[in-house]
Amino acid sequence: MGNCELEFINDAFDSNWIAPLGPNVNNFESDLSNYCGVKHAAALSSGTAAIHLSLIMLEVNAGDEVICQSFTFSASVNPIIYQKAIPVFVDSEFDTWNMDPVLLEKAINDRITKTGKKPKAVIVVHLYGMPAKMNEIISICRKYDIPIIEDAAEALGSQYCGKAAGSFGMFGILSFNGNKIITTSGGGALLSNNKEDIDQARFLATQARDEAPHYEHTQIGYNYRMSNVLAGIGRGQMKVLDERVKQRRANYDYYIEELSKLPGIDFQPENKNSYSNRWLTSIIVNPNGITRETIRLVLEKENIEARPLWKPMHLQPIFENYPSYNNGVSEKLFIEGLCLPSGSNLSRNDLERIVFNIKRTFDQHL
Ligand SMILES: *Cc1c(COP(=O)(O)O)cnc(C)c1O
Repeated sequence: MGNCELEFINDAFDSNWIAPLGPNVNNFESDLSNYCGVKHAAALSSGTAAIHLSLIMLEVNAGDEVICQSFTFSASVNPIIYQKAIPVFVDSEFDTWNMDPVLLEKAINDRITKTGKKPKAVIVVHLYGMPAKMNEIISICRKYDIPIIEDAAEALGSQYCGKAAGSFGMFGILSFNGNKIITTSGGGALLSNNKEDIDQARFLATQARDEAPHYEHTQIGYNYRMSNVLAGIGRGQMKVLDERVKQRRANYDYYIEELSKLPGIDFQPENKNSYSNRWLTSIIVNPNGITRETIRLVLEKENIEARPLWKPMHLQPIFENYPSYNNGVSEKLFIEGLCLPSGSNLSRNDLERIVFNIKRTFDQHL
């Protein structure tokens, strides 16, 4: 936490605005839309809720297909299943580790051939904060007239071609879950330049209550709004967001400096038109005789937690029977990749201890 969160929470208590909605929610939404350079934002209970509402507004229904990046966290996909729609997974490329535009176009064409219908949406993810190849992906989606849902849950503070992650899709999604770069303990947001869409998202997120003195409903609603108390935390967190990005990028710079000369270690690259928030610093390990698991276990013995990269969705037991377009990239990244400790509050001493133990592993095993 920064220094201002409690002030905003106290505002909520002093004014008795505890329930969903209130001044903190409105102000947090305008902080987010200003920061991301989009016209409108709706503060919600989670990033997952934001993806779900996007799909509902795009009228994704039973039997429809939605293309989704395979290399991601399961929350990118689950809302497709909530709608009884069919996820179609597309693999990654090595430049950004995100959706491969070439494979995306191949997948779209193949789905049209096989089903006679276009996929209803494309969900692209900026993994670990690294922007996907949006220029290419946008031009393909324009060509086939398929809307993009941009899952920027891990990428608040990242930029692509000078514009904020989350501002490229028809809908942008943010998360303020506890592990993200800023947090409201739990929460998310939907971004859009279209006022009607955001109004509709707010309506659906507050139980779809029609205008009437009594409770009148013509649609199924959801309880997906962020509370005014948590939005107070969000307002405080927005004040430290840029500092958090700097801290995360400093972790990355330190790891690069210390580890990039080790044989067979590669980092998630940064492309020339991208600026990553470096939410997590991730490496791939592939010299002979040493694996990411060797490193992970050595660190674990030292009480240092490092985790494998996301296991691709097309390999998950729950999703393995859905269509997928693979090129081996996400599978290789999963087998060889490791997320290093990346918190904004890592001390120099922490970083030195981590790096020392990784170097020691190489000395012992090679
Ligand atoms: C965290 C995350 C989400 C979901 O956000 P919640 O706020 O936890 O629901 C979605 N997609 C990705 C890529 C994430 O990392």
